[in-house]
Amino acid sequence: MPPQLIIRAMSDIKTKARLFVSQNLKQGAIVSPNPDQAHYLMKVMRATNGDSVVVFNGCDGEWRCNIEEATKKNCALRILEQLRVQAPEPDLWLAFAPLKKSNTDFVIEKATELGVSRLIPVFTEHTNTSRVKTERLSAIAMEAAEQCDRLSVPEIAEPVDFNELLANWPDGRILLVPDETGGGQSLKAVLEKLSGDAATSTHGFLIGPEGGFAPSELDDLSKLSFVTRVGLGPRILRAETAALAALSCFQAITGDWELKPRFNNGYFFNARR
Ligand code: SAM
Repeated sequence: MPPQLIIRAMSDIKTKARLFVSQNLKQGAIVSPNPDQAHYLMKVMRATNGDSVVVFNGCDGEWRCNIEEATKKNCALRILEQLRVQAPEPDLWLAFAPLKKSNTDFVIEKATELGVSRLIPVFTEHTNTSRVKTERLSAIAMEAAEQCDRLSVPEIAEPVDFNELLANWPDGRILLVPDETGGGQSLKAVLEKLSGDAATSTHGFLIGPEGGFAPSELDDLSKLSFVTRVGLGPRILRAETAALAALSCFQAITGDWELKPRFNNGYFFNARR
């Protein structure tokens, strides 16, 4: 983590939790945990007045707070000092065909840990899930962001269908589509080429459903200038594995895996669930 981002080392702060809050963050302000967070602090972590909590909101950096007005069920968080300034994070999108509930949850949690900025559920011809609860997925993304020490929570977009996604895909953003039929280029070669212009272009992946892309969908994709089909090796990966593998390759080859975690004393935050 570049030193200029860290204002205060965490090593000497014993904090009860790291929480995402929606309020503005500035010294002396009071912020309130949501009911789920209050339950976690007061019932699970048995926090009391004077305990420290770390908060972030996705735009004002990260701050240390003190617990005040603690009751059995709730508390107030008074902001004391800034620990980190807000830093730019990768602008990497993941569009994916919704999967069976637990597998979609898995994709949301892991994609958050892997630094995506936006997740877009996409209904393709072979998608066999018809409903997506974006509110529940946002809660999963929030807890994963709290746990993995990010300074932002990825946006969970409302679901769209395949044609709508492509029709509204933003200019200048490259769409990488893992194509299980072998029609893609080597992901490594594509990403190494992208490294050169990573600063100027933005990127996203589109992962197909358990049943794969329909031939007509692959045909449509091959006609689009902003689409590059890529391969993920000789084995057929489950959709959730493909998402993880593609994002990991991206971060390793052209993303932010050059940066280091902040903690050197093994001090990590437990996920709330
Ligand atoms: N229906 C396909 C089959 O059984 O052959 C499998 C689809 S796979 C479970 C789901 C998605 O993961 C694919 O649409 C593709 O986006 C991605 N994927 C899986 N394995 C891949 C590979 N070896 N190369 C490229 N993409 C892959």
